[in-house]
Amino acid sequence: MTAQWPSWLPLRSDLQALSPYGAPQVPSQAAMNTNENPFPPSPKLQAAIAAKLAEVSATLNRYPDRDAVLLRGALANFVNELSGTNFSQNQVWAANGSNEILQSVFLAFSGGKALGFTPSYSMHPLIAKVTSVEWIDGARNNDLTFNIDRALIQVKEFKPRLTFITTPNNPTGDAIAIKDILALSKAVASVGGLLIVDEAYAEFSQKVSSVSLIEENPHLVVIRTMSKAFAFAGARVGYLVGDSKIVDAMSLVRLPYHLSALTQGAAVVALDFRKELLSSVTTLISERERVVKALTGLGLSSIPSSANFVLFSGFAQSAPQLWQAMLDRGILIRDVGLSGYLRVTIGNEAENNLFIEALAQIVSQKTGEQL
Ligand SMILES: *Cc1c(COP(=O)(O)O)cnc(C)c1O
Repeated sequence: MTAQWPSWLPLRSDLQALSPYGAPQVPSQAAMNTNENPFPPSPKLQAAIAAKLAEVSATLNRYPDRDAVLLRGALANFVNELSGTNFSQNQVWAANGSNEILQSVFLAFSGGKALGFTPSYSMHPLIAKVTSVEWIDGARNNDLTFNIDRALIQVKEFKPRLTFITTPNNPTGDAIAIKDILALSKAVASVGGLLIVDEAYAEFSQKVSSVSLIEENPHLVVIRTMSKAFAFAGARVGYLVGDSKIVDAMSLVRLPYHLSALTQGAAVVALDFRKELLSSVTTLISERERVVKALTGLGLSSIPSSANFVLFSGFAQSAPQLWQAMLDRGILIRDVGLSGYLRVTIGNEAENNLFIEALAQIVSQKTGEQL
């Protein structure tokens, strides 16, 4: 509970007990808590964006392209390049972050239940609540792995309108096999629902993207973002890839001119620089492996990750205690609310070193070994 609402305020009763999404934004030496890419845009890209924004500013008296046609075309090309698909702008929708896409999906396709498998992305159930959709938690196994057999049974049992999976999953980092996604998508189709595959971390994974399944499975929808691997979180651009009818439905629920001309312009430039922006992915993957080794060296364990973060456990303190002790040393990581686990976003080399050093100090203190 974060707020005691006054009685004069006619706030929806189903919202009164909710807490807002709130990853702490506090000063730190190393911000490793929201899965951002630690590498800022190059001076060349900064200049290209600035030039584009200068050009766009000349027409800011006018509304932007309501359908963001240029940007959606550029996103379609980008997906096709990565996945060997053949999408056009009619199969891509763009909005202010994939969170806005998620909200639009709920607005367009609610009227039934939504099913997800937690622990997973906390905004799926939260947006369900805000849009008054009943959320069913299918849950993962005790060891936090995804249970496809149980998921298939739950789809048959609950007949959800919307079924959500996240792959690679946040906060665990594991990816779901494409054959399991296909099986789940068939089950979802048989109950008249949609399967929403949240691929916020797809670029970090070696697995085939679910976009390759869309042509044969129109009830499968993939949601992606420029915020993570693409190193563009501050611009707020997310997108959906799906059947053109899904995309048509998005335009029913979006607000008019939802994506500003400045955002559209900057995103198109960033997509031109995609090679540069995605070049950090390899570095981040090898840094991830280095961090995992260090965790193991400290006697901690972690879930094998296909993303730019690691969920680790095995420490003697409680998660909030260790989180605070790390913050006291200037390292901001994430307490995802799972008892005994903390999540660290892979940073640049210096940040990862700070993380490892601080953690080593705390862990060895606690076990009474030498400092
Ligand atoms: C970070 C994240 C998002 C949100 O991304 P935005 O595009 O920045 O809104 C969506 N889904 C998952 C699983 C995430 O981790």
